[in-house]
Amino acid sequence: MGKVYLVGAGPGSADLLTLRALRLIQAADVILFDALVSTEVLQLASSNARLINVGKRSGRKSFSQEDINALLIYAARNEEVIVRLKGGDPMVFGRAAEEMAALREQRIEFEIVPGVTAACSAAAAAKVSLTDRRLASDVSFLTAHSSEENAGKKWIEPSEKNRTLVIYMPGQDYERLGSDLLGAGISPTTPCVVVSRISSADQQLLWTNVGSLGLATALAAPAVIIVGDVAESTEQAIVLGKLERFGSEEVRSHVGYSAR
Ligand code: SAH
Repeated sequence: MGKVYLVGAGPGSADLLTLRALRLIQAADVILFDALVSTEVLQLASSNARLINVGKRSGRKSFSQEDINALLIYAARNEEVIVRLKGGDPMVFGRAAEEMAALREQRIEFEIVPGVTAACSAAAAAKVSLTDRRLASDVSFLTAHSSEENAGKKWIEPSEKNRTLVIYMPGQDYERLGSDLLGAGISPTTPCVVVSRISSADQQLLWTNVGSLGLATALAAPAVIIVGDVAESTEQAIVLGKLERFGSEEVRSHVGYSAR
């Protein structure tokens, strides 16, 4: 019996992998990977490894979750090191729970290797502190993607103040997204930033606010949206002279001047 590693591949750039992920990718006999895993990361695999694209966007037959579970079990019975490679972190919107349950049921040994999740890499790309203690005491990771069983359900609870939201799988319909956010009681002036294709050559950022989100042209997938006062673009705020929230001392420290 082999061992299965559910490994986070991070946002795409190979140097954002953990060392453990790198070692396992190099040692793997079989790698089952998702659509979001970058070529740069896959190129690290040994030339003897079997690479199987189980991603939904593979353009070929798409694998159901049951197919993937069955493949994992089959691989574990026939090979030694099986890497199930997922974009970002396997435990965040990664269907890891279903795969762990299938492996437990078959008494197959497994281990989880964390990765940099999109929320954290988006925060880094936008230079936004998700929990800036002056503006947020809470951060929620949510998804606007409605599975069939969730259709019609409300996906955002009425907002508490001082909360940062990170929306995964926002889709292309920003108008609907904006109105869902407004419907949840979030003020139209609340800043937000869309971060698309994090860590790739065509990474893009779009700074706006909840009231204007619906007017924006959607950025290319994959993208996440950070919503909350923390998502105010400091550079932009300075340009526009919108500094009321920060004392001048704080603004200086934001832009990297010494306060003295
Ligand atoms: N396990 C992943 C999330 C999988 S769900 C993680 O932890 O990041 C897929 C969603 O993740 C995408 O629709 C997008 O919202 C986000 N995402 C993943 N990689 C991304 C990237 N490189 N740039 C922007 N968003 C990304």
